[in-house]
Amino acid sequence: MVFEGLAEKLQETFRKLKSKGRLTEADVDEAMKEVRRALLAADVNFQVVKSFVARVKERAVGQDVLSSLTPAQQVIKIVRDELAGLMGGTQSKLNLAPKPPTIVMMVGLHGAGKTTTAAKLANLMRKQGRRPMLVAGDVYRPAAIKQLQVLGEQLGIPVFSMGDRHTPVDIARAAVEHAVKQGRDLVIIDTAGRLEINEEMMAELETLKAAVRPHEILLVVDAMTGQVAVNIAETFNKRLGLDGVVLTKLDGDTRGGAALSIKAVTGCPIKFVGVGEKLDALEPFHPDRMADRILG
Ligand code: GDP
Repeated sequence: MVFEGLAEKLQETFRKLKSKGRLTEADVDEAMKEVRRALLAADVNFQVVKSFVARVKERAVGQDVLSSLTPAQQVIKIVRDELAGLMGGTQSKLNLAPKPPTIVMMVGLHGAGKTTTAAKLANLMRKQGRRPMLVAGDVYRPAAIKQLQVLGEQLGIPVFSMGDRHTPVDIARAAVEHAVKQGRDLVIIDTAGRLEINEEMMAELETLKAAVRPHEILLVVDAMTGQVAVNIAETFNKRLGLDGVVLTKLDGDTRGGAALSIKAVTGCPIKFVGVGEKLDALEPFHPDRMADRILG
């Protein structure tokens, strides 16, 4: 499970704290040192850890926490609040268009899980009563077009494709027109990624954004890459202005640093998490529930 190591360490720290009864400032300091070490070991961004610990300390010794009847409980509550806050506080939902169709643009690098996530998102939104349509916009990889078509077929969700001989802008425009005619209220556009961030890809995505004016630009990043995912999110956000992030492969052997850093570093909330290869393995992200899970 993601955060297993972090959860174990924090729970151990707070067990010790609870066993103490009354607390001194030194006790809180000692606990915060452990929290700091645990967060760094979970690959959380260094600056994020620093300001997190400073905030918790300030709240823990600044209020009437230490003189209260249950000081350890109060410190734990502060940590829980701040952990949830790091991840965005409460759930951030997809931006929906006031007048359908809602247009979602999926962006990300190769292998992050973009195409799979587009299909998973269509599946999830259909369960919530939407009428999604997928758009095959990765014109550089015929295999990606085929992949999306196969996924759409499996789900029984229409996939709009014009092959690989048209520009992504032409495809996306035609797709939106088609969606309106077909009464589809959600258009999810798969775009072309690259192995790494480059100017050509960013310029293309900017052009596409300007042409179709998506209500939501969702970046798909792989949680397994840790701080690399955070840097990717920062770069995409600066250039495109992201509305949200999907963190994939949270079912894998990841320490969870990206989940705890992305919002704090980029200001962009994680909206969904991928938790497996199956098409129903996408979940809305709930920072508060995740914080509860970490603290046990
Ligand atoms: P793209 O190049 O970004 O479009 O990536 P794909 O959608 O082709 O996904 C790359 C691989 O990651 C595929 O084998 C997916 O099944 C896998 N994948 C995507 N999301 C998840 C996830 O949340 N968990 C796991 N375990 N695998 C995932």
